[in-house]
Amino acid sequence: MANVYVSNIVIGAGLGGISTAITLAAQGQQVLVLEKNDRPGGKMDEVLSDGYRFDTGPSLLTMKFVLDSLFQLAGKQTDSFLEIHPIDPICRYFYPDGIRLDAHADIRKMQRNLPEKLRVDQDALRQFFEYSKKIYDLTADLFLFDSIRNPAHIFNPQAWKVLFQLRSIDAFRTVHQANQSYFKSPHLVQLFDRYATYNGSNPFQAPATLNIIPHVEYTLGSWYIKGGMYRLTEALIILAESLGVRFQYQTPVSEILVENKRVKGIKTMAGDSIASDNVISNSDVVHTYTQLLKPPYQQLKWEKKEPSCSGLVFLWGIKKSYSQLSHHNILFSENYQQEFQEIFQNRKAPTDPTVYISITAKQDPTHAPDGCENWFVLVNMPWINEQETNTNEEVNAIRQAVFRKLISCGIESPEAFIETEKILTPAYLRHRTWTNKGSIYGLSSNHRNAAFNRQDVRCRSIKGLYFAGGSAHPGGGIPLVLLSGMLAAKAVLKDLT
Ligand SMILES: Cc1cc2nc3c(=O)[nH]c(=O)nc-3n(C[C@H](O)[C@H](O)[C@H](O)COP(=O)(O)OP(=O)(O)OC[C@H]3O[C@@H](n4cnc5c(N)ncnc54)[C@H](O)[C@@H]3O)c2cc1C
Repeated sequence: MANVYVSNIVIGAGLGGISTAITLAAQGQQVLVLEKNDRPGGKMDEVLSDGYRFDTGPSLLTMKFVLDSLFQLAGKQTDSFLEIHPIDPICRYFYPDGIRLDAHADIRKMQRNLPEKLRVDQDALRQFFEYSKKIYDLTADLFLFDSIRNPAHIFNPQAWKVLFQLRSIDAFRTVHQANQSYFKSPHLVQLFDRYATYNGSNPFQAPATLNIIPHVEYTLGSWYIKGGMYRLTEALIILAESLGVRFQYQTPVSEILVENKRVKGIKTMAGDSIASDNVISNSDVVHTYTQLLKPPYQQLKWEKKEPSCSGLVFLWGIKKSYSQLSHHNILFSENYQQEFQEIFQNRKAPTDPTVYISITAKQDPTHAPDGCENWFVLVNMPWINEQETNTNEEVNAIRQAVFRKLISCGIESPEAFIETEKILTPAYLRHRTWTNKGSIYGLSSNHRNAAFNRQDVRCRSIKGLYFAGGSAHPGGGIPLVLLSGMLAAKAVLKDLT
């Protein structure tokens, strides 16, 4: 493929890369997406096994309006491509002391149904959601819907207000400290601490600005995509191809070619070169700076930055159905602080993990044979170094801990009913998506400057290089990654003028 030229090359067909490609192509740009795997989606993948269907990554869609805006950029409606339903309850929580509680988007319903022991916090719930909304209102336009280094911010009084009054977005307390100030019950503190894990962070370290997430999940809504989350990847590919985007699979990129601080194209692992004016990397930012850019453009300092946590996923096809479980379930650990201490400071698998279980068969019975269920089970894990893997003993210890956790919550262990099993380890995630150190959400947000230090969508040192995806601005998770892709494409288009 030597001597080929394409105006815009996107490296990676994850959600961020596809979103960039759609936005560029909708403006008449020529786009080629190069993906190392044999299919698109990256972390949002799907496994079919013995009559069961599983999503391997995201299970909850928030900020659906971001997805709608991507379809609208291409002159289409989401509903023509996907059937998307709000979910209720959003999640069922199980605590070690036997308390069980359903989280509802309707806060009054959640308040009404709080277990007796948690009633002290009824009014606190309302106050907490007002506070969460305030953070969203102050930050969303600046930190989510725009490039963080947009020069226009210099003339925007709202931007100065936020930047110089970090207190107003609660950047000086940790998520846990802020939640303790709102709730008397440790159960609700733990419930809302959990949202720090939505970008792979530690609630005992991460700034309370992350308390924006409950507003996003409850007030703005939580959604399920009929047929499974992978339908989203498929729909976006159909949309992109209809706009003329070309996808080339099984094509790992080994190098971004740069001359005189200007992108010249890429080189594939097969040795082919493609010339291009713009390269948008949907590959992890650390991977891009340390592997794809070569000296003198390579930046090894990125290796030293703390990644977000990783995860261990069990996909279990279970010959039984569990009426106690909802679509989304969390079974909490006894000592949340110790769990995060183990994951982030000791970098070891948690001895008593919090367990997340998602069962799409509750919504889509065809995802499992009659009377059976498809369990996606996720446990937070430490990130891993390049050569590290988790031993079989470690994985088995977590597996057993999951069974014990279920039993302690009064739920029969599924061990005897598992008829198909796939295990996706942190090393698998690293190998499958080339994510830095197996991290799920790029670099961690465990310090208050994280949002400012995250890679912007435009590379400042190399003209024509852009970033789109969970490790770049504005961060990880479906809506933010889609936004990242749209912002990167807008930066490309702006630089063309
Ligand atoms: C277990 C798990 C649970 C999650 N749960 C949720 C959830 O419930 N809700 C939510 O919103 N988000 C969730 N997420 C996060 C969400 O999946 C990610 O933020 C998002 O999918 C990341 O998209 P991306 O485009 O940044 O990157 P990726 O999905 O990592 O895609 C990058 C793509 O680039 C390719 N690539 C990399 N390097 C190269 C190269 N050199 N050459 C060619 N191709 C390359 C990779 O193969 C990959 O396909 C979850 C993630 C995981 C793993």
